[in-house]
Amino acid sequence: MIDEADVGGVHIKYLYHCQRQLWLYARGLRPEHLSAAVQFGEAVHETSYTRNSPVDLGAARLDFVDGRHWVHEVKSSSRPTPADQAQGRHYCYRLQQIGIDAQGTVLHYPATRRTQRHPFTEQEAEQAEADIQQVLAVCAQASSPDRLTRSDCRGCSYTDYCWTD
Ligand code: SF4
Repeated sequence: MIDEADVGGVHIKYLYHCQRQLWLYARGLRPEHLSAAVQFGEAVHETSYTRNSPVDLGAARLDFVDGRHWVHEVKSSSRPTPADQAQGRHYCYRLQQIGIDAQGTVLHYPATRRTQRHPFTEQEAEQAEADIQQVLAVCAQASSPDRLTRSDCRGCSYTDYCWTD
């Protein structure tokens, strides 16, 4: 079972999208290579903002941090989601834990050429801590959380697993 230090950006993203997805992922199920949506996301990462290198924080791997300590994340979707914001908040929290005074997150959406800025406030830091605890609580559940409704599963790499009887 994972502990607090193991919680990374993917766990946070899944927490906000689907708790069942988080639970399956935490148990080592990795069907991502089957998913066209994930492959598209990887392609966007490879072709966008190539001048920057990803930053490895152990369990958390973020796209890059600029000279003013803003975390930049490049997203393949065209529409911002609460999961995007939560992931950025988590990276800021992890950076502050290692002594880097993260200022916030800039989310980039190349498909629509939009950006969003989210300052990392004290309230955001508290929420980041609460998110980690929530991840641990979901992962500790003895059985898998319920499925989302089918229409909310679009693009999820666990679709075959969840919906094949
Ligand atoms: S297929 Fe749907 S219910 Fe299953 S993990 Fe993905 S989003 Fe959740």
